[in-house]
Amino acid sequence: MSESMYDIVILGGGSGGYAAALRGAQLGMKVALIEADKVGGTCLHRGCIPTKALLHAAEVADMARDSGHFGVNATFEGIDMERVNTYKDQIIGKLHKGLQGLVGHHNITYVTGWGTLVAPDTVEVDGTRYQGRNVVLASGSYSRSLPGLEIGGRVMTSDQALTMDWVPKSAIVLGGGVIGVEFASVWKSFGVDVTIIEALPHLAPNEDESLSKALERAFRKRKIAFKLGARFSSVTQDDSGVTVSLEDGSTLQADILLVAVGRGPATANLGYEEQGIPMERGFVLANERLHTGVANVYAVGDIVPGLQLAHRGFQQGIFVAEEIAGLEPATIVESGIPRVTYCDPELASVGLTEKQAREKYGDAVTISEVNLAANGKSGILGTAGFIKLVGVKDGPIVGVHMIGARMGEQVGEAQLLVNWEAYAEDVAPLIHAHPTQNEAMGEAALALAGKPLHAHN
Ligand SMILES: Cc1cc2nc3c(=O)[nH]c(=O)nc-3n(C[C@H](O)[C@H](O)[C@H](O)COP(=O)(O)OP(=O)(O)OC[C@H]3O[C@@H](n4cnc5c(N)ncnc54)[C@H](O)[C@@H]3O)c2cc1C
Repeated sequence: MSESMYDIVILGGGSGGYAAALRGAQLGMKVALIEADKVGGTCLHRGCIPTKALLHAAEVADMARDSGHFGVNATFEGIDMERVNTYKDQIIGKLHKGLQGLVGHHNITYVTGWGTLVAPDTVEVDGTRYQGRNVVLASGSYSRSLPGLEIGGRVMTSDQALTMDWVPKSAIVLGGGVIGVEFASVWKSFGVDVTIIEALPHLAPNEDESLSKALERAFRKRKIAFKLGARFSSVTQDDSGVTVSLEDGSTLQADILLVAVGRGPATANLGYEEQGIPMERGFVLANERLHTGVANVYAVGDIVPGLQLAHRGFQQGIFVAEEIAGLEPATIVESGIPRVTYCDPELASVGLTEKQAREKYGDAVTISEVNLAANGKSGILGTAGFIKLVGVKDGPIVGVHMIGARMGEQVGEAQLLVNWEAYAEDVAPLIHAHPTQNEAMGEAALALAGKPLHAHN
């Protein structure tokens, strides 16, 4: 039996789903948000927020270790995982409560339970049907594994790694992408011997090659081991640890294995195929207006092919709510979505890599790179790195690529430069405060405009 008619029925309360719900409600629509687990989804409970809490604890550990360098007498005595988890869980708990409050405040009908799409306009939860003039699919993603690689015990994904109440002596991380390098960074700071195995030729393989190479240099310096172009073959485990075999015949041993080989779309057995939703390898295919081509069914977040990032999900959720409300929002440009990898050192980027820009603009591509060694605040923090701008001659800045401590905080300006198609000449006279790391962005713009200030030429 149909409970009542909604303007929007949303399946999944993660970043994409709850953003669509909040924006839809703000626009005066009657919204039902269906969530089997907890509102906030992967990002809040098993993703962005808990990993960043661990990374901050890792930074504090490193600061304690290095405190003597700054003339501060402190001793690093170890990691109390129980208290790290308490700190992490308190942050999640507070944000979760805030989000529940927001959903309640907007009079969104929040349904707890497992939903399935039983008609293009209807989601069923425990026998109750929620019918919508529009339906938004937002069921998110799960940690992938490899064929024959079973998760359990000492072999874990980020889900289990985030709830560990002990610090291993050693860890093997399968996958040198965002999640893999973030965990490797945390564990190294916690005193763990870490080895990353990556099948591709570089760590952070989706980034501009200069960032990947700089990250590799930084990780070498931090004594984080990695094997590139190395393919996993099998793993065994017993009471004392795991043994990982690679295709080249070598074996590695450690206390645990983290499987960080990417995330798959959570779309199986939800009725999507039965209702004719176009799918490919489990992903939901939607057009640039996030419409699936079936009735009034939209899709947002990690189930839509592309960057699996929370802020992409948020923006897609907002977009769909506004689209449904008839506001004709501007489409989202995938390359304009900022990307941050929060390991130490941080990677932050937006727009085209140098290689992508050269494919598109050929010889018109211009590059400027400013080393953080010349930046006062970076020296104070003791970080190495650089900011690289990719521009087009007589045209805009099309890519920004950064590595170094706290570079994630610079991505705000970076995304404005790229998304507003700023010209270096226009940015050059704009003032960047001294002494900030942000000055390095200003300096890079000056250099791209042909008038670098702190340069020997
Ligand atoms: C370890 C880790 C670290 C990450 N760090 C970052 C980061 O720093 N920055 C960043 O931008 N992104 C990060 N991400 C990615 C980010 O978490 C995802 O991109 C984001 O959560 C995707 O949002 P979503 O709404 O598509 O899906 P999800 O957040 O996965 O939400 C989907 C929701 O749908 C619910 N659901 C699924 N099926 C049903 C059903 N049938 N009925 C009812 N409910 C259902 C699920 O319970 C879930 O709550 C990280 C991910 C991981 C795993």
